[in-house]
Amino acid sequence: MDMKETNQTSVAIAIDIGGTKISGGVITESGELLANFVEKTPEDVDTLIEVVSTIIANLITSITEQTIIRGIGLAVAGTVEWEQGVVVQSPNLPYDNLALKSIVEKAFDLPTYLDNDGNLAVLGEKYFGNARDSRNVVGLTLGTGIGAGIIIDNKLYRGATGSAAELGHMVINSSGPSCTCGSFGCFEELASGRALVRYAKQKLSGNMNPGNIPGYAANDVPDSKSSLLLDLVDGVINKIDGIMITKAALAGDKLAISCFEDVGYWLGVGLTNIINIFNPEVIVVGGGMADAGELVLNRAREVVASHSLSPNKEVVSIVKAKLSNNAGLFGAAALVFNK
Ligand SMILES: [Zn+2]
Repeated sequence: MDMKETNQTSVAIAIDIGGTKISGGVITESGELLANFVEKTPEDVDTLIEVVSTIIANLITSITEQTIIRGIGLAVAGTVEWEQGVVVQSPNLPYDNLALKSIVEKAFDLPTYLDNDGNLAVLGEKYFGNARDSRNVVGLTLGTGIGAGIIIDNKLYRGATGSAAELGHMVINSSGPSCTCGSFGCFEELASGRALVRYAKQKLSGNMNPGNIPGYAANDVPDSKSSLLLDLVDGVINKIDGIMITKAALAGDKLAISCFEDVGYWLGVGLTNIINIFNPEVIVVGGGMADAGELVLNRAREVVASHSLSPNKEVVSIVKAKLSNNAGLFGAAALVFNK
């Protein structure tokens, strides 16, 4: 195939390995998803490599002759040695130190790249999403925890050992709840989906300021007995999850809304640190929490407006991610085109 031939489309093969599913896609340079295959994530490593290989083979078969495949991008959660393409440790995968990049590269003879989902989410937004044309970008994924990625001067910032951007473990209230990392009051213990659920349970049990937010207007939160949330779980507070709180908040339930606002408050505190340190043009917020709408982001923007430094706070836009549902896939494609 002549690489210089005109009107050829350039594509990347993108693979996102998650805890429950492995998704694969063909993505064009302009961000079009041409083909998409999804399989369940298997439990053993041999089957996983087989499933990934089958998806890639099927994607390659789906590509027309006039198309140039620029490479394969792999997105995984956890700690990676991105230059060697080794998955050191992943919460989604039950094994350590898997040299996934070289396995795939050998099998398909295409340039292959691998990185973690936090880095790739922000890279995807820079190439295909809501952070295009910005040189300095921070991406946050508000899920059960908080994932993050940092772009400085158009380049991913990885730090000395590739483990930078652990913004979820920034301590923002040292007398706050204990974190899985061993510290206290980490950003992700106060502004994640896990925090949202904890706030709701504590409020329904009578603690009207479970996040210990300074100057909290406890009077604004209605009596917990009238909350729609109690109906949704037949009075069993422990059954409450993030989806129910979202549902109740969208239906106008004041207690559920106040839980999102609490998350928004701590998100604003974390964003203030990020804005003061990095002075980004854009902060892109994705993940399940951002999908709940502007409730969280509006409260966070208020905190940023009153807490962060000028001119940092005037130049920054805090926006919802565009690619939330396919962040890993588009990020993996961006990694290929970025080379
Ligand atoms: Zn932590």
